[in-house]
Amino acid sequence: MTIASDHVSRMDRAMAVLHGLSVGDAFGQQFFSPGIPQWCVSQRKPPPPVWNYTDDSEMAMGIVEVLAEHGRVDQDALAIRFGERFAAAPARGYGQAAIRILHAIAQGEPWRSVARAVFGGEGSFGNGGAMRVAPIGAYFCDDFGEVVRQAALSAEVTHAHEEGIAGAVAVAVATAWCCRQPRGAELSGTEMLEAVHRHTPDGAIRLGIEQALDVPLDTWEFTAANLLGNGSRITARDTVPFCLWSAAANLDWFTSAMWATMRVEGDVDTNCAIVGGIVAGATGVQGIPSKWIASRERLQIAGISGEGYS
Ligand SMILES: [Mg+2]
Repeated sequence: MTIASDHVSRMDRAMAVLHGLSVGDAFGQQFFSPGIPQWCVSQRKPPPPVWNYTDDSEMAMGIVEVLAEHGRVDQDALAIRFGERFAAAPARGYGQAAIRILHAIAQGEPWRSVARAVFGGEGSFGNGGAMRVAPIGAYFCDDFGEVVRQAALSAEVTHAHEEGIAGAVAVAVATAWCCRQPRGAELSGTEMLEAVHRHTPDGAIRLGIEQALDVPLDTWEFTAANLLGNGSRITARDTVPFCLWSAAANLDWFTSAMWATMRVEGDVDTNCAIVGGIVAGATGVQGIPSKWIASRERLQIAGISGEGYS
């Protein structure tokens, strides 16, 4: 696969959703901090800066670096990036299985055997493949087949279980669908969910998307989370269906999507990262308040300025 002639505009889209993902991650993470006043939530006042990002953004930046260099998901290059970024900043809230995998990769062990070895040889079915994948959906948005292939490749480096991979595929397709819509058009969250359902492989994640399609988009978010999960189990199955639903219910309004998603608690930073990446595909970076972007800790991406991308 050669690098596409429109690589620069693909990278612009990938950067826009990276902003959505990382602002969501950093915003959500603030609610784990002690001392966030309750009025921040009740009055929808964003927490005071600086909002530090977590593992979700670290790994998404690794993906963006690989896309920038290779124009595709080169799994060996991605494993090296993940390992390097983990070694440089290990205290970013990585889960225990991720720490084992990334530590081994950083020590030079082959990612294929490491990623398979966790959870009794089944591989991880956690939400880590889904939380970082939005830039892939943005980069390949013109071709859903390629979105599915590249998202699966990106997940497999750390999440070898089919549910870990399917969660990443579903979030990438949702992001791609959003990026394909004309800016300013009235968007149908139901159509987005239907497209994701069509492209997600059979299994528990696809069943979760069927459940999400049965929850009307004007349902109270707490009711939806009770039915679909809120990520508190840290699995793709417990995370991705609700996040897709919450994005679908708030496709045209980034901040509304963030508040609705954080209020149901669970894996708040990852939930907001997933929803933020998808919704930024629809709104563009212009849909994210500049104050929110300025509140987020500056991104660190090799070869790319973290600021000023559109
Ligand atoms: Mg995190």
